[in-house]
Amino acid sequence: MSINLDTIVSLAKRRGFVYQSSEIYGGLNGCWDYGSMGVELLNNIKNEWWKSMTYREDIEGIDASILMHPKVWEASGHVENFTDPMVDCKECKARFRADQIEESMCGNPAYKGRKASKCQEEGKFTEPRQFNLMFKTFLGSVEDSTSIVYLRPETAQGIFVNYLNIMNSSRQKLPFGIAQIGKAFRNEINTKNFLYRTREFEQMEMQYFVKPNEDMKWFESWEEERMKWFIELGLKKEKLRIVPHPMDKLAHYAKAAVDIEYEFPFGWGEIEGIHNRTDFDLSQHQKYSGKSLEYFDDETKEKFIPYIIETSAGASRSFMTFLIDGYYEEIVRGEKRSVLKFHPKLAPMKAAVFPLVNRDGMQDIAWNITEDLRKSFRIFYDDKGAVGRRYRRQDEIGTPFCVTVDSQTLQDQTATIRDRDSMEQIRISMDSIKKYLAEKLF
Ligand code: ATP
Repeated sequence: MSINLDTIVSLAKRRGFVYQSSEIYGGLNGCWDYGSMGVELLNNIKNEWWKSMTYREDIEGIDASILMHPKVWEASGHVENFTDPMVDCKECKARFRADQIEESMCGNPAYKGRKASKCQEEGKFTEPRQFNLMFKTFLGSVEDSTSIVYLRPETAQGIFVNYLNIMNSSRQKLPFGIAQIGKAFRNEINTKNFLYRTREFEQMEMQYFVKPNEDMKWFESWEEERMKWFIELGLKKEKLRIVPHPMDKLAHYAKAAVDIEYEFPFGWGEIEGIHNRTDFDLSQHQKYSGKSLEYFDDETKEKFIPYIIETSAGASRSFMTFLIDGYYEEIVRGEKRSVLKFHPKLAPMKAAVFPLVNRDGMQDIAWNITEDLRKSFRIFYDDKGAVGRRYRRQDEIGTPFCVTVDSQTLQDQTATIRDRDSMEQIRISMDSIKKYLAEKLF
């Protein structure tokens, strides 16, 4: 089944996953808001990542501030190098990334459907200029060059500058990692493809500090582990691939890098990068801060700067990936059903509870079940319309189970449980519903 991105964007809006930011004012380019279903899905993704990273012996969590000392971005190379080449169209004033003209379309309504490369051939574009992607703002009440600070373009630097704090307070020894989830901001020249390239987004990054001669071993191990994480949460294996960066295209700090890519409706795209950043980051911060960031190895009595293996995933890009990958359209008894087959751990609602009809006390029983289940799970209660329609509404937001109270419930205290994917129903006693869900959901 081929999926159209517009179908996903429209479902996301209709069912409360994602809306355009400031929509009533016409929207703000590159920014999106997560609705009641979206925030649950996003939180569940972040939570699974957090658990997989920090519920273990060797990785600690952190939540660093978004604004950091401006020198951080000099040391990291972002002030100088975090740029994209940009060209402007002299005729319609549209702006393009110089390295993406081949894939871009002319934005001028007068040339509808025309490729930007054609405009370039006709000499409409300016020469490329380097454009820094960091958002600037001012710290304190004086707005001059001495008070400039940046919204962080990645969460990683908050980890590097806290490496000593975390190591000393947690008493970790190499190898160990620090994990962080948080917002990052990039003033992207061209935002596109829904949540794929936005100006405000969330990252889930983990930096693993290792001995220099053990770097490649850990790089390979994290590559494997991160791929496994996506597959275990349900992404189709055949839609994922690992693409190594060619040696001549590596970032200035990297010794090796791979991207985990997903096959989106618009083609393959990166969802996570795994990088061997060597000792570049800590050496730079040592140089710019004047503070020693060396590690003392108790066994060998040697001092050195640790190497860093980074796993850097987009929470928002992963969100969009799970949404697309989970989406199915099926024909059931002559009718189309749209269903989001999320892994139960990610599903925004874990179950829905319905009275079959609103009489004979079925509503009260269904409500009592809802209240009881809500002590453990996010539950949707619905007593409106035909039960078939209620099932379809839950399918569309990916609810794995629907519990229905019917006339037999009144006689033998059992209810039906319908499985989202197989659509099969079984009957179980009301007092075992919670246990049943707990086993199936986690
Ligand atoms: P790209 O080449 O797509 O711009 P990148 O190589 O610059 O990405 P990294 O700096 O390695 O990306 O960031 C790590 C992760 O953060 C990416 O794999 C992606 O999931 C996410 N990410 C980066 N930029 C954006 C963005 N503008 N919008 C949404 N997610 C992003």
